[in-house]
Amino acid sequence: MPQRSAHEAVNSYFTDAARILDLDAELYPVLTSAYRELAVQVPVRLDDGDLLVVRGYRVQHNGARGPYKGGIRYHPDADLDEVRALASLMTWKTALVNVPFGGAKGGIEVDPGGLSAAELERMTRRFTMAISHVLGVYRDIPAPDMNTNAQVMAWMMDAFSSKAGYTPACVTGKPLDLGGAPGREAATGRGCVFVLAAWAEHHGRSLEGIRVAVQGFGNVGSWFAHEVAGRGARVVAASDLQGGVHDPDGLDVGALRDLAAAGRPLSEIPGGVALTNDELLACECDVLVPAALGEVITEDNAAAVRAEVVLEAANQPVTPEADKLLADGGVAVIPDILANAGGVVGSYFEWTQNIQQFTWKESRFNRELEDIMTAAYTATRETAERHGCSMRQAAYAIGIERVANAARMRGYV
Ligand code: GLU
Repeated sequence: MPQRSAHEAVNSYFTDAARILDLDAELYPVLTSAYRELAVQVPVRLDDGDLLVVRGYRVQHNGARGPYKGGIRYHPDADLDEVRALASLMTWKTALVNVPFGGAKGGIEVDPGGLSAAELERMTRRFTMAISHVLGVYRDIPAPDMNTNAQVMAWMMDAFSSKAGYTPACVTGKPLDLGGAPGREAATGRGCVFVLAAWAEHHGRSLEGIRVAVQGFGNVGSWFAHEVAGRGARVVAASDLQGGVHDPDGLDVGALRDLAAAGRPLSEIPGGVALTNDELLACECDVLVPAALGEVITEDNAAAVRAEVVLEAANQPVTPEADKLLADGGVAVIPDILANAGGVVGSYFEWTQNIQQFTWKESRFNRELEDIMTAAYTATRETAERHGCSMRQAAYAIGIERVANAARMRGYV
């Protein structure tokens, strides 16, 4: 079978879910393509005097329910098709958790690993200026994603503010001293735990002692591991880009986080057995958590998954072919647009706080996050039960219905 593109894969999930909704045929072309796709040239002067010219993108998929919202990723695979796919995922994600945003995504096709901090700053500022005419507090609000962080958001906010005046609400995921919200950095990983806890409770299980394997130990994976271990779960395997470690008795999550923070390979942890990223996906566990790259569970390795449930902390980690194989094998999947929506929910809290110039305590942030994530899980589960469909179909269906209603009422079709 020919390989589908990332955007075709998201649209195949869309079509699968739209079927249960009996969606108006005229809405298909509107909802399966982006409103605006901006591709820009980003020239970066390197420290050694050479000029690097990279390509940057901002795709605004759908804005029927509010300003466009979504992260910015720096990665060699972040081409227009991938950014387009991720922008549409944001539309369904923001609608599912019912925050008043549309969906967007941005990216630069670059390996940031080789760039110095000064080069990264120059690239970020140049890219922000190149796309600034489509950004704005009520227009389009970027956030961190793969290989971007609070510092990158600070540069974006500064570049935008140099034209528009002090505008903290123009990006989210900022450092605390620049209007960032206490709780936002942990929100994606913590949100995954809230959803997993709701799943466990419904299935009469407890997080105490549950065996979890985490692929990817960046912001999402490491916060997830920290939070889930805090509730008594056993993190039996964890990995980074180089590979990982396995210990059926449970790994020391604090030590793993220290290694990740120091930029050292997780395999340096004492105890445990080294394993590859492929071996991690097939390891004996209850909950498998792909928390980094997309399309890691494919038709080639899906049958090897031994977990009871796959919690999609990453965006689009399971291909549509693998999704069917997992379902056939009785493996439940908690889909990305539900599992990792804590990030954008946290961004919503940060944005509203910036607009009101009022900072919440982290305890309030976490409480409100838990309410929204738990409600989204319950709505997804109930829809899945009502239609006899997967949680992914149910989550998409809820999101699609909300966007379709808004689009129709606004007169898009
Ligand atoms: N990049 C995150 C995501 O994929 C967060 C987006 C946001 O906060 O706007 O959901």
